[in-house]
Amino acid sequence: MKLATFFHGGTTRIGIVDGEEITDLSIAAPNLPREMMAFLEAGDAAMEAARQAATKGTHLSLSDVTLGPPVLKPRKVMAIGLNYADHVAESGQAAPAHQVWFSKAQTSIAGPHQEVLKPSVSDFLDYEAELCVVIGKRAKHVPKDQAHKVIAGYCCGNDVSVRDWQLRTPQFVLGKSFDTHAPIGPWITTHDEVGDPHTLDIKCFVNSEERQSSNTKHLIFDCYDQIAELSQAMTLEPGDVIFTGTPAGVGGAMDPMQFLKAGDVMRVEIEKLGAIENSVVDEQAEMLIQ
Ligand code: ZN
Repeated sequence: MKLATFFHGGTTRIGIVDGEEITDLSIAAPNLPREMMAFLEAGDAAMEAARQAATKGTHLSLSDVTLGPPVLKPRKVMAIGLNYADHVAESGQAAPAHQVWFSKAQTSIAGPHQEVLKPSVSDFLDYEAELCVVIGKRAKHVPKDQAHKVIAGYCCGNDVSVRDWQLRTPQFVLGKSFDTHAPIGPWITTHDEVGDPHTLDIKCFVNSEERQSSNTKHLIFDCYDQIAELSQAMTLEPGDVIFTGTPAGVGGAMDPMQFLKAGDVMRVEIEKLGAIENSVVDEQAEMLIQ
């Protein structure tokens, strides 16, 4: 099942995507929560009710709606660094003994086709195609062999990075947290539909030029390792998003280096999960105090 958040007729709703159509759950199953995080919190019963509703109900054409980030405001967006051997090598760093975690700000979340801002303060904007895990259960101290049970599903993600801000201090967080720098989507493909998440081809294109091409079988710490590690420290909650790392081919490791500029179009594609496509626009830096 493919669970989407979408905007239509001035409202935000959730729905189930099937081919070129989407079932509006606010009509097909009006008793279900109408927002993804609340829907995921409602657990297996809500998931089953949605599955039933998808077979009936009114369909909208996908082309008539605007897809949003599947989870609008995840409580946590965690991301792992240096998690494909070829990317570790191109970064010139040693393979880490421990999982390297940073967070991305909630305000960095963007939709699957939303414009990504090139910050006014940097010319070192870069892309990172990543498999994202969306958490479906509250979870703490989950061993690796149970970790699949806490996953609602998966989506494409782009861990957009501002390299100079990322690397000028020992902490990645600021350089990874600019507004719009965590586009995700196009929807959550549920765990049962994906099966093994460690067999998926993953690619990134910039203006149709293939920059990254790998497979999630090359993850150093796999999705389940990551949940086991994170859940020793923090309670994972429904809707939390985990960026699982990027393979080789980022612009900052090319020779010569290739950073993004306004007008560039980034496309992240993952087998079984669809694709997200985000164009780059210059940020209009305006002071905001509200
Ligand atoms: Zn990353």
